[in-house]
Amino acid sequence: MKVHFKGTRGSIPTSYSADEISKKIVDALLAARGKDLRSEGQIIDFVKNKLPFHTSSGWGGNTPCVYVETPSDEKLILDGGSGIRPLGQEFAKAGIKNTTFHIFISHLHYDHIQGLPFFIPAYDPSNKIIFHGGHKHLEESLRAQMNTPFFPIDMDTFNAEVSFKIHKPGDKLELCESEISLYQQEHPGVSFGYRIDSKGKSMIYSTDAEHKNAAHSKKYPFIDFIRGADLLIFDAPYTHSQSIGIREDWGHSSNIMGVELAARGEVKTLAIFHHDPASSDQEMEVFEAYTKKYLDASRTAIRETRPGIPGAPSSRKFPTEILHSYDGLTISL
Ligand SMILES: [Zn+2]
Ligand SMILES: [Zn+2]
Repeated sequence: MKVHFKGTRGSIPTSYSADEISKKIVDALLAARGKDLRSEGQIIDFVKNKLPFHTSSGWGGNTPCVYVETPSDEKLILDGGSGIRPLGQEFAKAGIKNTTFHIFISHLHYDHIQGLPFFIPAYDPSNKIIFHGGHKHLEESLRAQMNTPFFPIDMDTFNAEVSFKIHKPGDKLELCESEISLYQQEHPGVSFGYRIDSKGKSMIYSTDAEHKNAAHSKKYPFIDFIRGADLLIFDAPYTHSQSIGIREDWGHSSNIMGVELAARGEVKTLAIFHHDPASSDQEMEVFEAYTKKYLDASRTAIRETRPGIPGAPSSRKFPTEILHSYDGLTISL
């Protein structure tokens, strides 16, 4: 299973201003002073391996879309935020036709569906598009965003064969040589998380979900949903203090909650997702460093409790890795 992050920003697409791009170039040139950078290879190595990520690159600004490459020829896509536009362009460029696309929608907030009218394969009559979701009004909502006066052409302009399938939590779907299940999440209007198990690997796509105090209780069903996964994509635009302060009830979670749930669910890789549109790349890098520092500190704290005492916590093994996903990141499970 290969997971391609096409859009990782939450709420609204963001882009870099001219000044922000200039600053990256100035910072890179300042960092290059006095370095031996004569060949192209030396320069590429310097950019990729020596510069901080916020200078050499960046998180990008497309809203949620993740493409999951499975052994099947059918395509499995999670959400249709603006990140689905470049994904559609890639499929078209690769000449992909006569193909079924399964698009699972977490919920109908605009940032998760706004890219769909720009998904090129939907205009190819040889393709089939199947929208999956847990909201009863999935079809009418997806059609509504393309109706006059919101968009110049309506959804009937899609030449592909389009259908809609509504599922319930607890359903187990067999498609794309994978088993897919749903989990209902706390969010304004509710959202659905998806678990995908395929050929012995597993991943969870859990965006737009607020985990409140109940998450600390001994029995919290989300832990069973994520248990043992190789990858947990987790909605965490907030710090802990924001999540219990000014942004409580906004429907999202913190990086700290992500680490705690991943640890209890024994998840291998935690991928922080749905980044705050107000965060600059520099701020994102600081946020990532704090998330990793929290994991390290929690490991040490647990190790330092008296080992061997009945009831004492065992050392924290999970998550084994944390990454702050960015547009264009691909990981193999
Ligand atoms: Zn969102
Ligand atoms: Zn939302």
